[in-house]
Amino acid sequence: METTAKRVQQPSPVPSAAAAAHAPVQQTLERYSRRHRRDASPVSAEVMAAEQAAREQRERKANPYQLDWQSQGTMLYLQSRAGAPVPLVNGDRVAAFDMDGTLIRTRSGRKFPTGRTDWLWLLPCIPDRLRKLHADGWKLVIFTNQNGISTGNQPVADIKGKILDIIKDVGVPMSAFVASADDLYRKPAVNMWSFMTAQHNGGIPVNKDMSVYVGDAAGRPAAWDGDDKTKKDFSASDRKFAHNCGISFYTPEEYFLHEKPAKFS
Ligand SMILES: [Mg+2]
Repeated sequence: METTAKRVQQPSPVPSAAAAAHAPVQQTLERYSRRHRRDASPVSAEVMAAEQAAREQRERKANPYQLDWQSQGTMLYLQSRAGAPVPLVNGDRVAAFDMDGTLIRTRSGRKFPTGRTDWLWLLPCIPDRLRKLHADGWKLVIFTNQNGISTGNQPVADIKGKILDIIKDVGVPMSAFVASADDLYRKPAVNMWSFMTAQHNGGIPVNKDMSVYVGDAAGRPAAWDGDDKTKKDFSASDRKFAHNCGISFYTPEEYFLHEKPAKFS
């Protein structure tokens, strides 16, 4: 009898030895067994719901306008989720922007970004200006060539995440269209613009006389700003894009800093 009692007491997960001594052995074992089953059991629905709510809260913070990436062929674009509290704007006046070298530059100083967070506003005034345009009823759109996605030089997740980060930092909803390959969607081809106006403006015709496109690929020669160190623009594809869309073109310096139009070839 004594041997059996010793063996039974060995697992002894009971917190209080005094309580265990007074409780029938069988009852103690059952309690241990119940607790063990509880520990090993699947996570309860309540806990899973709380975890899901926490995940959604984190996502709402990172993506406050509830924008989802969609694709049309090789082109990527943002769409408001159904029921988003602040959806993307539809309207007749479009203020459209190139991204790299126009709204932002790399933080690293490199030509191509090293990752999702390698960016800074090109000019400190830009986010305020974008907020003002939104408040005045403009539809804000980014049109960006990102051929690095198709060549494998830029992870698509970095580009998608960076654009959401930029929009979050501005604090107003912005549409975005990304040409991910060197094909029919790449600026200066007009197809990103045509797709936006035909399918992502709520059926509202765009007033081309009022609408603008701002980009740094403007065909400006070396030292266009009087600084010998300034290189020539790598292309004129932004200027040509605006021309093909039939809307006014500005360089970032002309649009954001009200500088006089620079010469170009
Ligand atoms: Mg650019």
